[in-house]
Amino acid sequence: MTTSKPAIARQDTPQTPLRVGVLGFGGLGQAAARVLAPKAEMTWVAAADKKGFAYHPDGLNPDACITTYHQQGSLGYLDPGGTLSTDSIAELIQRSPVDGYFLALPNLPNTFMASVVRQFIASGWRGVLVDALKRTSAVEQLLELQAELADAGITYMTGCGATPGLLTAAASLAAQSYAEVHQVKITFGVGIANWEAYRATIREDIAHMPGYNVDSAMAMSDEEVAALLDRTEGKLTLENMEHADDIMLELAGICARDRVSVGGVVDTRNPQKPLSTHVNITGRTFEGKISTHTFTLGDETSMAANVCGPAFGYLKAGIRLHQRGFYGLLTSAEVMPLFVK
Ligand code: NAD
Repeated sequence: MTTSKPAIARQDTPQTPLRVGVLGFGGLGQAAARVLAPKAEMTWVAAADKKGFAYHPDGLNPDACITTYHQQGSLGYLDPGGTLSTDSIAELIQRSPVDGYFLALPNLPNTFMASVVRQFIASGWRGVLVDALKRTSAVEQLLELQAELADAGITYMTGCGATPGLLTAAASLAAQSYAEVHQVKITFGVGIANWEAYRATIREDIAHMPGYNVDSAMAMSDEEVAALLDRTEGKLTLENMEHADDIMLELAGICARDRVSVGGVVDTRNPQKPLSTHVNITGRTFEGKISTHTFTLGDETSMAANVCGPAFGYLKAGIRLHQRGFYGLLTSAEVMPLFVK
């Protein structure tokens, strides 16, 4: 029989679990609740949707919250712990002690996330915020808030989903082999069983298709989205998307943004991925060799797993930075996520 040594831990590992909130309780918000459930280092204490919020200092029950949300349309009906509100984010921030939030909110219109961040700054709240924003222009709006975030005592981690997020970070790591990075090409395959589970994600993807923009996709009724998906057999094929991986890699000093491209296929009628999600990083080594690193995600991993896992990994990293007095804005290309136990 072998005896295993006790695992070593850093001395600054938190003794009490971090109190975590999730804003937005759609596809990603609900998956986030499930991802957090087995974690010892984080307790999921707060969540908000458009019509209400829920808070419990000892932790919320994911099953009870998801059932309430599906049956009654809002976490505000949760009993006990729910509150109906037309200003759920503002009320939750004021009332509930939380160390950090994952912002699983739709960015519709394209200025919405920046407006939520301004709300946090104005409220006097201090802590860590993590988003899974996708558009370059949305991240640019946050860059303008850098100084205000730092003054407010907020550590903000942007672009911390899958792409941008996990794949951008992989590109940042892979780039270290090269003296010059020539190209970063991200190709994603997403499979979901039905589009209604991820309404904002699908509307935001439609906004990248020829003939559509964020405003027209936001204005589409559910029936119009379903009719569009009927015409494409449930698939969305996207090329040369406006994706913040480009500005994030430029900010990290890795390559100019025009060397980064993002595209992929989303199948809204099959949970199996239509193709394997991967990123190719091509560059020149110090010896003058041209080579390509490829990082490919396992086909069995869902969009939810590849977004929520990194989001909480970056939240943990952000909380450590916050505790050490770093406030302001960082991207997933600049910091290593920390695995949440
Ligand atoms: P969804 O449509 O399933 O759910 C949105 C949730 O936000 C709902 O619970 C809704 O009630 C809530 N909400 C809307 N307005 C609100 C408000 N004013 N106050 C409080 N709550 C509000 O959304 P989803 O499909 O889970 O997507 C969430 C976001 O994640 C999208 O912006 C999407 O683009 C992004 N995303 C990023 C990645 C990535 O890899 N970076 C991948 C997938 C999705």
